Amino acid sequence: MRVGFGLNLCVPHQCHRGSQVDACGIHSLVCKKAPGRSARHHALNDLVARGFSSAGVAVTKEPVGLFRIDGKRTDGLTLIPWQSGKSLCWDVTVTCPLADSYVTRAAQEAEAVAELAASRKMEKYANIDARYLFEPIAVETLGVVSSSACHLLNDLGRRLTVNCGEARETGFLYQRMSVLIQRYNAVLLHDGLPDDTTDRSTTHLLSLLFLYFLLPRDYIYNNNNNTEDSVMMLSS
Ligand SMILES: [Zn+2]
Repeated sequence: MRVGFGLNLCVPHQCHRGSQVDACGIHSLVCKKAPGRSARHHALNDLVARGFSSAGVAVTKEPVGLFRIDGKRTDGLTLIPWQSGKSLCWDVTVTCPLADSYVTRAAQEAEAVAELAASRKMEKYANIDARYLFEPIAVETLGVVSSSACHLLNDLGRRLTVNCGEARETGFLYQRMSVLIQRYNAVLLHDGLPDDTTDRSTTHLLSLLFLYFLLPRDYIYNNNNNTEDSVMMLSS
């Protein structure tokens, strides 16, 4: 979106690992070494786990013992059956459609990069025990959510509504996720800035630019008036 507007978010510079970052800052969003990537993953997993807890479903994060051979761990597991008498495992991943290896695919079809990330997760956990269900939660840095993630979040939102009595819980869930992704886009761009430009005013400006120019997609709303509620929930 910001590329379409011709917006420059920083001056060209080198990231901390020596790669060139152009004025649009795209490398900062795809840099494998950015510390914000790990923080984003944990924050997104926390968001999902809190959603289950609020819906009255006890969960554990990064359960051990699901795979006997290679010791793989999913990001979370419900401790009570989720569907068809089976507990649900999930794994979150965030992928950037602006990466060189994805940009062609992203230009050809909406959600293609999120779906690719989701299918890779399905392959990774294909040999999970039949007693468990597995759903990948793949999100693009520009806000698109994979179909498997939509399926899970819609289901979770319905259960939140039943548990909390608030009809807009599904919309709130998508909004919290969308704001989280946008905030971490700002964090990643900040991570990639050289030290002499990381003053507070620059950080604040970058955060505002991301929040205003990467607004959540229309489809994530059940109700277009929910944005203020979501921001209030986040700031409370
Ligand atoms: Zn880098």
